[in-house]
Amino acid sequence: AFRALRIDKTDDGQTVSVVDFPESELMEGDVVVRVTHSTVNYKDGLAITGKSPVVRRFPMIPGIDFAGVVTASESPEYKAGDEVVLNGWGVGETHLGGYAECARVKGDWLVPLVDGLSAADAMAVGTAGYTSMLCVMALERHGVTPERGPVLVTGAAGGVGSVAIALLAKLGYHTVASTGRPEEGDWLKALGASEIIHRDELAAPGKPLQKEKYAGVVDSVGSVPLANAIAQTKSGGAVAACGLAAGMDLPTSVAPFILRGVSLLGVNSVTVPKPIRIEAWGRLARDLDREKLASITKTISFDEIVPTANAIIDGKVRGRVVVEI
Ligand code: NAP
Repeated sequence: AFRALRIDKTDDGQTVSVVDFPESELMEGDVVVRVTHSTVNYKDGLAITGKSPVVRRFPMIPGIDFAGVVTASESPEYKAGDEVVLNGWGVGETHLGGYAECARVKGDWLVPLVDGLSAADAMAVGTAGYTSMLCVMALERHGVTPERGPVLVTGAAGGVGSVAIALLAKLGYHTVASTGRPEEGDWLKALGASEIIHRDELAAPGKPLQKEKYAGVVDSVGSVPLANAIAQTKSGGAVAACGLAAGMDLPTSVAPFILRGVSLLGVNSVTVPKPIRIEAWGRLARDLDREKLASITKTISFDEIVPTANAIIDGKVRGRVVVEI
C-alpha cells in the first residue's frame, strides 16, 4: 500500500482523507509511476471541495497532474527509471490521480520529462502553466505577434494568468494584466506585465463592441470579463479562452466576430494530441524564464493539499503551487 489522498462519496456528501491505498486497487494501465511531485490547479480545488462535479468515479484519488519516475512498464515507450510527466486525460477525475505515492496509467498519456526541466519545475508549470502555453501557441497560430498590439491576460495573479504573463513578456509582447489583487501589482510587473488594470474594469456588463485595445487575449475567467475582453479586441485579433473562474456563461453577441473578424479560440488541455503536448513542453523549457517560474511558485507538503484546494477556489492562491509527494 502507499499513501494517497482519497475522496469518498456518501449520502451526506463527500469526504477527503489520507489513506493507505492498496496497489491492487489501482486502475488499469501499462505504466506504474512513483510520483515525486504534483500540484494544485483550480480543477483540483473543484474536485476536493466538491464545488463542481469534476470527479466522476468514487473512491477517487484527486490530482490532475503528476511528475515522477517509472517503476514498471509494459509500454514499449517507457522503461523503469524514465522520468515522466502527466497532465489531463481525466486523471484525478475519472482515473485515479496524482495525490499518491504511486500511479498506474496508460503510457499514451505520459510525456517524457523535457530536458532542462526538473520534476518540480514541471509541476510548477502544471496543467495551469501548460494551458497558458497552449493559449499562447493558439494566439501565435492565429498570427498575433508583438507588433500587432498589446495582449490582455485576465486572472493575472492566478496560475494560468501568471505563467501567461511570464511567457508573453519573454516573447516580447506588451502585456496588460487584469487582476482583482492590485496589491500584487509589483509582483506582476516583476513577472513582465507592462500594465496592470483592476478586474473591476471588465466586471460590469458592457456593449459587444467597445474601444479596440488588444491584439490578443489569454482569458482564464470567462463570463462578463471575457465578453468585455472580446469587445475590446482589435479587428482581426484573437482571444484564447480556457477558464471559468468568473463563470461558465458568455454574455456577448456575434457582433465582434462578424463586424471585426475577432476569433474566439477555445483551449482544452485535457486531450491534446501527443505531438502538440511535446511541442508545448519543449516551448515551456525554452520560453519560460526559470527565475520567474521560481518567483511564482510555492512548495507545499502533502498535508497542505486540502487547505490549498480550498484557498484556490476562494481566489487566494497566488501563482503556482508544487506539492512534494
Ligand atoms: P487560479 O490560480 O485560481 O486562477 C484564477 C484567477 O482568476 C484568480 O487567481 C483570480 O485572479 C481570477 N478570478 C477568480 N475569481 C474571479 C472572479 N469571480 N472574477 C474575475 N476573476 C476571478 O486557477 P488556475 O489553475 O489558474 O485556473 C484558472 C481557470 O482556468 C480555471 O477556471 C480552470 O478551471 C481553467 N483551466 C482550464 C484548462 C483547460 O484545459 N481549458 C486548463 C487549466 C485551467 P486575480 O486575483 O488576479 O483577479
